[in-house]
Amino acid sequence: MADDVRKVLADELGEIRKRERYRILRSIESPAKIEIIIGGKKYLNFSSNDYLGLAASEKLVASLAAVGERWGIGSGASRLICGNMEVHTELEQRIADFKGAPCGLVFSSGYMANLGILSTLGSPETTVFSDELNHASIIDGCRLSRAKVKVYRHADAGHLQDLLSTDEGKRKIIITDGVFSMDGDIAPLVDLCYLKEKYGAILVVDDAHATGVVGEGGRGTASLFGLSGKVDIQMGTFSKALGTYGAFICCDSIIREYFINRCRPLIFNTAIPPLIAALTVTALRHLEENPQLVEQLKKKVDRFTAGLNKQGVPVRSETPIIPVIIGSDRETVEISRKLFDEGFYVYGVRPPTVPENTARLRVTLSAAHGDDQIDLLTERIAYHMSTLKRDAQADNQSGVRTS
Ligand code: PMP
Repeated sequence: MADDVRKVLADELGEIRKRERYRILRSIESPAKIEIIIGGKKYLNFSSNDYLGLAASEKLVASLAAVGERWGIGSGASRLICGNMEVHTELEQRIADFKGAPCGLVFSSGYMANLGILSTLGSPETTVFSDELNHASIIDGCRLSRAKVKVYRHADAGHLQDLLSTDEGKRKIIITDGVFSMDGDIAPLVDLCYLKEKYGAILVVDDAHATGVVGEGGRGTASLFGLSGKVDIQMGTFSKALGTYGAFICCDSIIREYFINRCRPLIFNTAIPPLIAALTVTALRHLEENPQLVEQLKKKVDRFTAGLNKQGVPVRSETPIIPVIIGSDRETVEISRKLFDEGFYVYGVRPPTVPENTARLRVTLSAAHGDDQIDLLTERIAYHMSTLKRDAQADNQSGVRTS
């Protein structure tokens, strides 16, 4: 029996390989900095979500020993039992103040937070309206919510309105990534807020890639649009621009109280290590004291996108996630491999993570990247893209079909 299962799994893996969708775990032999070491060789990393260069920063590493001495490492239990330490509460107050919300609530990861939000607020009488490019953790949260799920076209408030206006669910939840994780674009929050008011819906924004990145001093998408008081739940993660681990929601006191009593991924999950909570407080303070980091990051994005555009590669992004769309899985893997051989780590993202025929290089930038490093990558991507174009033209002229 078990052998039968193994055969089925092995066959499926064979299929995945054939389709160039096979995934491996690469072992990184150095801290998560701009230069990383793989197989003893140095690479410039353009795939991390560590947008402000904090993950292995001196600032955080230097405070490790003191924080460890004060709080130890693990929390020892879920928050409701005895894992909730003073530092968790401090972190919640700080993130709420940062986001301009009444309360904060910390989760062990963004995945848990999204499962928690949707499974706690959802019910068979609920309809969840979800952007088609929302993160996988939102999709899985929808599955766990027991609600009716209506997926609206990406960032299309008109389509959302059509779906809302004909829906008879007793409770409506609109949920969107603030900054979309594979596309780097920003949700149309002004329209979403208007629709949420009009149809009495709850608006949830996943600011995993927006926190520390957009809005005043990196306060996120609600801040960017001046809507901090309007978004019912601002969710986000500490694991990206803040360089640590874990996640949060910012909300009002009723939602917080209800979640403490009903949210299973909060109740039945060990509290994040106090060590991590304390380091996150330090990271947050660092960001508040250094808002210029967010500006620096934006300048890097502008430099890279302008550079590529100048060399004939059309890209556009207001955030440090810059997709270079290639389309074909095979060509995406090929360019990613060529860049790797040249010392650049740029992840090639393929379906099912992104829609069919939109395989891409997902370039991410950090405030810690040097301009010279960005220019080098620009030059290499432009070169590889131009060879692709030339190959396609040659194939067309010789009558060979490209897929
Ligand atoms: N939401 C978004 C938009 C994400 O990109 C991610 C992870 N990359 C998550 C949620 C999940 O966060 P975590 O990694 O902390 O589980």
